Amino acid sequence: MPSAKVLKNTQYIELGSYQYWPVLVPRGIRLYTYEQVPGFLRENPYITDGYRAYLTSRLCIKSIFILSNETVNIWSHLLGFFLFFTLGVYDLLAVLPVLGASREDYVIYTIGLFCFQVCMLCSVGYHLFCCHRSEKTSRRWMALDYAGISIGIIGCYVPGVFYAFYCNNILDILRELVALLPLVVSLAPALLAALRHMPLPTYWKCWLIVPQNSAKICSSPKQMAVFEDPLCHSCSPPYDIHTWYWRQVYLVSVLAMMLAVFFAQIHPQYWNKKWQKLRSLLFCAVAGYGLMPTFHWICLSGGLSAHIVQEFLPKVLVMYLLAVAAIVFYMSKVPERYFPGQLNYLGSSHQIWHFLVVLMFYWWHQSTLFLTSYRHSHPCPDHPVHS
Ligand SMILES: [Zn+2]
Repeated sequence: MPSAKVLKNTQYIELGSYQYWPVLVPRGIRLYTYEQVPGFLRENPYITDGYRAYLTSRLCIKSIFILSNETVNIWSHLLGFFLFFTLGVYDLLAVLPVLGASREDYVIYTIGLFCFQVCMLCSVGYHLFCCHRSEKTSRRWMALDYAGISIGIIGCYVPGVFYAFYCNNILDILRELVALLPLVVSLAPALLAALRHMPLPTYWKCWLIVPQNSAKICSSPKQMAVFEDPLCHSCSPPYDIHTWYWRQVYLVSVLAMMLAVFFAQIHPQYWNKKWQKLRSLLFCAVAGYGLMPTFHWICLSGGLSAHIVQEFLPKVLVMYLLAVAAIVFYMSKVPERYFPGQLNYLGSSHQIWHFLVVLMFYWWHQSTLFLTSYRHSHPCPDHPVHS
Protein backbone atom coordinates (compact mmCIF):
# COMPACT_ATOMS: atom_id res chain seq x y z
CA MET A 1 0.00 0.00 0.00
CA PRO A 2 1.57 3.36 -0.99
CA SER A 3 2.21 5.77 1.85
CA ALA A 4 0.35 9.10 2.01
CA LYS A 5 3.54 11.05 1.29
CA VAL A 6 4.35 9.07 -1.83
CA LEU A 7 0.78 9.48 -3.03
CA LYS A 8 0.87 13.20 -2.44
CA ASN A 9 4.04 13.67 -4.45
CA THR A 10 3.29 11.35 -7.26
CA GLN A 11 2.13 12.63 -10.58
CA TYR A 12 -0.43 10.07 -11.54
CA ILE A 13 0.70 9.23 -15.03
CA GLU A 14 -0.20 5.63 -14.59
CA LEU A 15 -3.91 5.44 -15.29
CA GLY A 16 -4.57 1.75 -14.70
CA SER A 17 -7.52 0.64 -16.77
CA TYR A 18 -8.09 4.22 -17.82
CA GLN A 19 -5.67 4.10 -20.66
CA TYR A 20 -8.34 2.05 -22.42
CA TRP A 21 -11.25 4.33 -21.52
CA PRO A 22 -11.83 7.58 -23.43
CA VAL A 23 -12.97 9.41 -20.27
CA LEU A 24 -11.96 12.47 -18.37
CA VAL A 25 -9.61 11.65 -15.50
CA PRO A 26 -9.28 14.52 -13.00
CA ARG A 27 -5.76 15.03 -11.69
CA GLY A 28 -5.17 13.08 -8.52
CA ILE A 29 -7.55 10.26 -9.27
CA ARG A 30 -6.37 6.91 -10.45
CA LEU A 31 -7.77 3.45 -10.18
CA TYR A 32 -6.37 0.62 -8.08
CA THR A 33 -6.59 -3.14 -8.08
CA TYR A 34 -8.17 -5.13 -5.25
CA GLU A 35 -4.75 -5.87 -3.76
CA GLN A 36 -3.77 -2.19 -3.75
CA VAL A 37 -6.75 -0.75 -1.85
CA PRO A 38 -6.91 -0.43 1.95
CA GLY A 39 -8.59 -3.24 3.91
CA PHE A 40 -11.90 -1.45 4.47
CA LEU A 41 -12.49 -1.30 0.71
CA ARG A 42 -11.90 -5.02 0.21
CA GLU A 43 -15.52 -6.11 0.36
CA ASN A 44 -15.68 -8.19 -2.78
CA PRO A 45 -12.63 -10.15 -4.05
CA TYR A 46 -14.38 -10.91 -7.35
CA ILE A 47 -14.24 -7.22 -8.30
CA THR A 48 -10.55 -7.15 -9.10
CA ASP A 49 -9.95 -3.66 -10.50
CA GLY A 50 -11.39 -0.18 -10.99
CA TYR A 51 -11.20 0.93 -7.34
CA ARG A 52 -10.90 4.57 -6.34
CA ALA A 53 -8.99 5.03 -3.07
CA TYR A 54 -7.13 7.51 -0.82
CA LEU A 55 -9.26 10.44 -2.05
CA THR A 56 -10.15 13.70 -0.33
CA SER A 57 -13.83 14.72 -0.10
CA ARG A 58 -13.42 17.09 -3.05
CA LEU A 59 -11.90 14.39 -5.25
CA CYS A 60 -14.58 11.91 -4.14
CA ILE A 61 -17.20 14.31 -5.50
CA LYS A 62 -15.20 14.90 -8.69
CA SER A 63 -14.96 11.14 -9.22
CA ILE A 64 -18.71 11.02 -9.91
CA PHE A 65 -17.88 11.81 -13.55
CA ILE A 66 -15.25 9.14 -14.09
CA LEU A 67 -15.67 5.49 -14.85
CA SER A 68 -14.81 3.33 -11.85
CA ASN A 69 -16.31 0.18 -10.39
CA GLU A 70 -18.70 2.40 -8.38
CA THR A 71 -19.98 4.54 -11.28
CA VAL A 72 -23.06 2.42 -12.00
CA ASN A 73 -23.79 2.15 -8.25
CA ILE A 74 -23.65 5.93 -7.84
CA TRP A 75 -25.68 6.81 -10.91
CA SER A 76 -28.32 4.10 -10.55
CA HIS A 77 -29.43 5.52 -7.20
CA LEU A 78 -28.88 9.14 -8.20
CA LEU A 79 -31.29 8.58 -11.09
CA GLY A 80 -33.50 6.67 -8.62
CA PHE A 81 -33.57 9.76 -6.44
CA PHE A 82 -34.67 11.93 -9.37
CA LEU A 83 -37.29 9.34 -10.31
CA PHE A 84 -38.91 9.37 -6.85
CA PHE A 85 -38.59 13.14 -6.56
CA THR A 86 -40.39 13.58 -9.90
CA LEU A 87 -43.01 10.97 -8.95
CA GLY A 88 -43.58 12.86 -5.66
CA VAL A 89 -44.17 16.17 -7.42
CA TYR A 90 -46.39 14.50 -10.04
CA ASP A 91 -48.44 12.65 -7.38
CA LEU A 92 -49.01 15.71 -5.24
CA LEU A 93 -49.85 18.04 -8.14
CA ALA A 94 -51.62 15.80 -10.64
CA VAL A 95 -52.56 12.31 -9.34
CA LEU A 96 -53.92 12.89 -5.84
CA PRO A 97 -56.15 15.90 -6.72
CA VAL A 98 -57.83 13.79 -9.44
CA LEU A 99 -58.49 11.00 -6.90
CA GLY A 100 -60.12 13.49 -4.53
CA ALA A 101 -57.45 12.81 -1.93
CA SER A 102 -57.75 13.88 1.70
CA ARG A 103 -55.11 15.59 3.80
CA GLU A 104 -54.02 12.17 5.13
CA ASP A 105 -53.45 10.86 1.59
CA TYR A 106 -51.10 13.75 0.92
CA VAL A 107 -49.22 13.13 4.18
CA ILE A 108 -48.87 9.38 3.50
CA TYR A 109 -47.63 9.87 -0.07
CA THR A 110 -45.18 12.53 1.05
CA ILE A 111 -43.76 10.25 3.77
CA GLY A 112 -43.49 7.25 1.43
CA LEU A 113 -41.72 9.05 -1.39
CA PHE A 114 -39.56 11.10 0.95
CA CYS A 115 -38.30 7.86 2.57
CA PHE A 116 -37.43 6.44 -0.88
CA GLN A 117 -35.52 9.63 -1.75
CA VAL A 118 -33.58 9.58 1.53
CA CYS A 119 -32.69 5.92 0.93
CA MET A 120 -31.40 6.73 -2.57
CA LEU A 121 -29.33 9.71 -1.40
CA CYS A 122 -27.74 7.78 1.50
CA SER A 123 -26.70 5.11 -0.99
CA VAL A 124 -25.28 7.67 -3.44
CA GLY A 125 -23.35 9.23 -0.55
CA TYR A 126 -21.83 5.92 0.47
CA HIS A 127 -20.76 4.88 -3.01
CA LEU A 128 -19.32 8.33 -3.63
CA PHE A 129 -17.39 8.65 -0.36
CA CYS A 130 -16.48 5.01 0.39
CA CYS A 131 -13.11 5.67 -1.27
CA HIS A 132 -12.30 8.49 1.17
CA ARG A 133 -8.76 8.43 2.52
CA SER A 134 -10.12 8.33 6.07
CA GLU A 135 -11.49 4.92 7.04
CA LYS A 136 -13.72 6.56 9.63
CA THR A 137 -15.43 8.74 7.02
CA SER A 138 -15.90 5.74 4.76
CA ARG A 139 -17.42 3.70 7.61
CA ARG A 140 -19.73 6.55 8.58
CA TRP A 141 -21.12 6.69 5.07
CA MET A 142 -21.53 2.92 5.08
CA ALA A 143 -23.55 3.13 8.31
CA LEU A 144 -25.68 5.85 6.72
CA ASP A 145 -26.23 3.65 3.66
CA TYR A 146 -27.59 0.87 5.91
CA ALA A 147 -29.69 3.36 7.87
CA GLY A 148 -31.04 4.59 4.52
CA ILE A 149 -32.29 1.08 3.74
CA SER A 150 -34.22 1.12 7.05
CA ILE A 151 -35.81 4.39 5.97
CA GLY A 152 -36.64 2.93 2.54
CA ILE A 153 -38.41 -0.02 4.21
CA ILE A 154 -40.44 2.42 6.34
CA GLY A 155 -41.41 4.12 3.07
CA CYS A 156 -42.88 0.79 1.91
CA TYR A 157 -44.69 -0.07 5.14
CA VAL A 158 -46.35 3.28 5.83
CA PRO A 159 -48.58 3.58 2.73
CA GLY A 160 -49.11 -0.21 2.54
CA VAL A 161 -50.43 -0.45 6.10
CA PHE A 162 -52.37 2.81 5.81
CA TYR A 163 -54.41 1.74 2.79
CA ALA A 164 -54.66 -1.97 3.62
CA PHE A 165 -56.24 -1.31 7.04
CA TYR A 166 -58.43 1.51 5.79
CA CYS A 167 -61.81 0.36 7.05
CA ASN A 168 -61.67 -2.48 9.54
CA ASN A 169 -64.33 -2.64 12.20
CA ILE A 170 -64.18 -3.35 15.90
CA LEU A 171 -65.54 -6.93 15.81
CA ASP A 172 -62.82 -8.09 13.42
CA ILE A 173 -60.28 -6.31 15.54
CA LEU A 174 -61.41 -8.02 18.76
CA ARG A 175 -61.26 -11.40 17.04
CA GLU A 176 -57.70 -10.80 15.87
CA LEU A 177 -56.49 -9.01 18.97
CA VAL A 178 -55.68 -12.23 20.85
CA ALA A 179 -53.27 -13.40 18.18
CA LEU A 180 -51.34 -10.16 18.08
CA LEU A 181 -51.47 -9.27 21.74
CA PRO A 182 -47.83 -10.15 22.54
CA LEU A 183 -46.57 -7.90 19.77
CA VAL A 184 -48.80 -5.00 20.72
CA VAL A 185 -47.89 -5.36 24.37
CA SER A 186 -44.18 -5.51 23.70
CA LEU A 187 -43.72 -2.81 21.10
CA ALA A 188 -46.50 -0.26 20.89
CA PRO A 189 -46.61 1.14 24.44
CA ALA A 190 -42.89 1.80 24.54
CA LEU A 191 -42.99 3.88 21.41
CA LEU A 192 -46.23 5.62 22.32
CA ALA A 193 -44.69 6.61 25.63
CA ALA A 194 -41.63 7.94 23.83
CA LEU A 195 -43.75 9.84 21.33
CA ARG A 196 -45.69 11.58 24.10
CA HIS A 197 -42.49 13.16 25.33
CA MET A 198 -41.18 14.03 21.88
CA PRO A 199 -41.51 17.60 20.66
CA LEU A 200 -43.74 16.59 17.74
CA PRO A 201 -46.07 19.03 15.97
CA THR A 202 -49.64 18.92 17.34
CA TYR A 203 -51.03 17.39 14.17
CA TRP A 204 -48.67 14.42 14.43
CA LYS A 205 -49.41 13.88 18.10
CA CYS A 206 -53.11 13.79 17.31
CA TRP A 207 -52.63 11.54 14.35
CA LEU A 208 -50.24 9.11 16.02
CA ILE A 209 -51.33 9.03 19.62
CA VAL A 210 -54.85 10.28 20.28
CA PRO A 211 -57.12 7.49 19.11
CA GLN A 212 -60.46 8.77 20.43
CA ASN A 213 -62.11 12.10 19.80
CA SER A 214 -60.77 15.03 21.73
CA ALA A 215 -63.71 15.29 24.14
CA LYS A 216 -63.20 11.70 25.24
CA ILE A 217 -59.46 11.90 25.70
CA CYS A 218 -59.72 15.12 27.68
CA SER A 219 -62.39 13.82 30.01
CA SER A 220 -59.83 12.07 32.17
CA PRO A 221 -57.75 14.34 34.43
CA LYS A 222 -54.84 11.93 34.10
CA GLN A 223 -54.86 12.23 30.34
CA MET A 224 -55.29 15.96 30.66
CA ALA A 225 -51.99 15.94 32.48
CA VAL A 226 -50.34 13.90 29.73
CA PHE A 227 -51.67 15.88 26.80
CA GLU A 228 -51.48 19.61 27.14
CA ASP A 229 -54.86 21.34 27.20
CA PRO A 230 -54.41 23.14 23.86
CA LEU A 231 -53.45 19.86 22.20
CA CYS A 232 -56.65 18.15 23.37
CA HIS A 233 -58.81 20.93 22.08
CA SER A 234 -57.01 21.26 18.81
CA CYS A 235 -57.22 17.51 18.11
CA SER A 236 -60.07 16.52 15.89
CA PRO A 237 -59.04 13.26 14.28
CA PRO A 238 -61.05 12.53 11.17
CA TYR A 239 -61.59 8.88 12.15
CA ASP A 240 -63.06 6.90 14.98
CA ILE A 241 -61.03 4.17 16.64
CA HIS A 242 -62.63 1.40 14.55
CA THR A 243 -61.30 2.52 11.22
CA TRP A 244 -57.67 2.99 11.97
CA TYR A 245 -56.69 1.17 15.15
CA TRP A 246 -54.77 -1.54 13.30
CA ARG A 247 -53.07 0.97 11.15
CA GLN A 248 -51.70 2.60 14.26
CA VAL A 249 -50.59 -0.72 15.75
CA TYR A 250 -48.65 -1.77 12.66
CA LEU A 251 -47.25 1.63 11.86
CA VAL A 252 -46.05 2.11 15.42
CA SER A 253 -44.54 -1.37 15.72
CA VAL A 254 -42.76 -1.08 12.36
CA LEU A 255 -41.52 2.35 13.31
CA ALA A 256 -40.23 1.01 16.65
CA MET A 257 -38.39 -1.82 14.92
CA MET A 258 -36.91 0.42 12.27
CA LEU A 259 -35.74 2.93 14.87
CA ALA A 260 -34.00 0.09 16.72
CA VAL A 261 -32.38 -1.12 13.47
CA PHE A 262 -31.49 2.44 12.50
CA PHE A 263 -29.66 3.14 15.76
CA ALA A 264 -27.96 -0.26 15.57
CA GLN A 265 -26.70 0.71 12.10
CA ILE A 266 -25.27 4.08 13.01
CA HIS A 267 -23.67 2.99 16.29
CA PRO A 268 -19.87 2.83 15.73
CA GLN A 269 -19.66 -0.48 17.57
CA TYR A 270 -21.44 -2.16 14.67
CA TRP A 271 -19.39 -0.63 11.87
CA ASN A 272 -16.95 -3.48 11.47
CA LYS A 273 -17.33 -6.43 9.13
CA LYS A 274 -18.15 -8.81 11.96
CA TRP A 275 -21.63 -7.32 12.17
CA GLN A 276 -22.33 -7.33 8.46
CA LYS A 277 -24.15 -10.68 8.47
CA LEU A 278 -26.18 -9.66 11.52
CA ARG A 279 -27.19 -6.40 9.85
CA SER A 280 -28.36 -8.24 6.75
CA LEU A 281 -30.29 -10.68 8.96
CA LEU A 282 -31.91 -7.76 10.79
CA PHE A 283 -33.18 -6.41 7.48
CA CYS A 284 -34.54 -9.82 6.49
CA ALA A 285 -36.36 -9.97 9.85
CA VAL A 286 -37.88 -6.52 9.46
CA ALA A 287 -38.90 -7.18 5.86
CA GLY A 288 -40.28 -10.61 6.91
CA TYR A 289 -42.36 -8.99 9.63
CA GLY A 290 -44.41 -7.48 6.80
CA LEU A 291 -45.94 -10.93 6.28
CA MET A 292 -47.75 -10.55 9.60
CA PRO A 293 -49.90 -7.53 8.67
CA THR A 294 -50.36 -9.14 5.24
CA PHE A 295 -51.92 -12.32 6.71
CA HIS A 296 -53.90 -10.25 9.18
CA TRP A 297 -55.18 -8.04 6.36
CA ILE A 298 -56.27 -11.10 4.32
CA CYS A 299 -58.27 -12.34 7.35
CA LEU A 300 -59.87 -8.95 7.98
CA SER A 301 -60.74 -8.52 4.30
CA GLY A 302 -62.69 -11.80 4.15
CA GLY A 303 -60.10 -14.35 3.03
CA LEU A 304 -58.43 -15.16 -0.26
CA SER A 305 -61.65 -14.99 -2.26
CA ALA A 306 -62.31 -11.32 -1.41
CA HIS A 307 -62.12 -9.01 -4.41
CA ILE A 308 -59.60 -6.59 -2.89
CA VAL A 309 -57.36 -9.49 -1.75
CA GLN A 310 -57.36 -11.03 -5.23
CA GLU A 311 -56.47 -7.66 -6.70
CA PHE A 312 -53.83 -6.56 -4.23
CA LEU A 313 -52.23 -9.78 -2.93
CA PRO A 314 -50.38 -10.56 -6.20
CA LYS A 315 -48.85 -7.11 -6.01
CA VAL A 316 -47.62 -7.79 -2.47
CA LEU A 317 -46.18 -11.14 -3.61
CA VAL A 318 -44.34 -9.54 -6.55
CA MET A 319 -42.91 -7.02 -4.08
CA TYR A 320 -41.60 -9.82 -1.86
CA LEU A 321 -40.23 -11.68 -4.87
CA LEU A 322 -38.27 -8.58 -5.89
CA ALA A 323 -37.03 -8.13 -2.31
CA VAL A 324 -35.89 -11.76 -2.03
CA ALA A 325 -34.16 -11.60 -5.44
CA ALA A 326 -32.41 -8.37 -4.43
CA ILE A 327 -31.15 -9.86 -1.15
CA VAL A 328 -30.01 -13.08 -2.85
CA PHE A 329 -27.90 -11.13 -5.37
CA TYR A 330 -26.58 -8.86 -2.62
CA MET A 331 -25.44 -11.66 -0.33
CA SER A 332 -24.32 -14.29 -2.83
CA LYS A 333 -22.11 -11.99 -4.98
CA VAL A 334 -23.46 -13.72 -8.10
CA PRO A 335 -22.69 -13.36 -11.05
CA GLU A 336 -19.17 -11.91 -10.53
CA ARG A 337 -18.35 -14.94 -8.35
CA TYR A 338 -18.38 -17.01 -11.57
CA PHE A 339 -16.64 -14.38 -13.70
CA PRO A 340 -14.03 -12.83 -11.41
CA GLY A 341 -12.50 -9.69 -12.87
CA GLN A 342 -14.86 -9.59 -15.84
CA LEU A 343 -17.74 -7.65 -14.26
CA ASN A 344 -15.71 -4.95 -12.50
CA TYR A 345 -17.50 -2.09 -14.24
CA LEU A 346 -20.81 -3.50 -15.38
CA GLY A 347 -23.05 -6.37 -14.35
CA SER A 348 -21.91 -7.04 -10.78
CA SER A 349 -24.25 -8.23 -8.02
CA HIS A 350 -24.30 -4.90 -6.20
CA GLN A 351 -25.44 -3.14 -9.38
CA ILE A 352 -28.23 -5.69 -9.79
CA TRP A 353 -29.18 -5.12 -6.13
CA HIS A 354 -29.35 -1.36 -6.76
CA PHE A 355 -31.51 -1.83 -9.85
CA LEU A 356 -33.86 -4.23 -8.04
CA VAL A 357 -34.23 -1.83 -5.08
CA VAL A 358 -35.30 1.01 -7.41
CA LEU A 359 -37.64 -1.36 -9.26
CA MET A 360 -39.10 -2.61 -5.95
CA PHE A 361 -39.80 0.91 -4.65
CA TYR A 362 -41.31 1.90 -7.99
CA TRP A 363 -43.49 -1.23 -8.03
CA TRP A 364 -44.67 -0.53 -4.50
CA HIS A 365 -45.48 3.07 -5.36
CA GLN A 366 -47.61 1.93 -8.31
CA SER A 367 -49.32 -0.71 -6.12
CA THR A 368 -50.09 1.93 -3.49
CA LEU A 369 -51.60 4.16 -6.18
CA PHE A 370 -53.83 1.28 -7.19
CA LEU A 371 -54.95 0.73 -3.59
CA THR A 372 -55.55 4.46 -3.06
CA SER A 373 -57.81 4.76 -6.08
CA TYR A 374 -59.58 1.53 -4.97
CA ARG A 375 -60.23 3.00 -1.52
CA HIS A 376 -61.57 6.21 -2.99
CA SER A 377 -63.86 4.44 -5.45
CA HIS A 378 -65.11 1.64 -3.12
CA PRO A 379 -66.50 3.08 0.14
CA CYS A 380 -65.86 1.00 3.26
CA PRO A 381 -68.83 -1.30 3.97
CA ASP A 382 -69.56 -0.14 7.52
CA HIS A 383 -67.96 3.25 7.65
CA PRO A 384 -68.24 5.94 5.00
CA VAL A 385 -64.97 6.88 3.34
CA HIS A 386 -63.66 10.00 4.95
CA SER A 387 -63.41 13.06 2.76
ZN1 LIG B 1 -25.14 0.15 -2.63
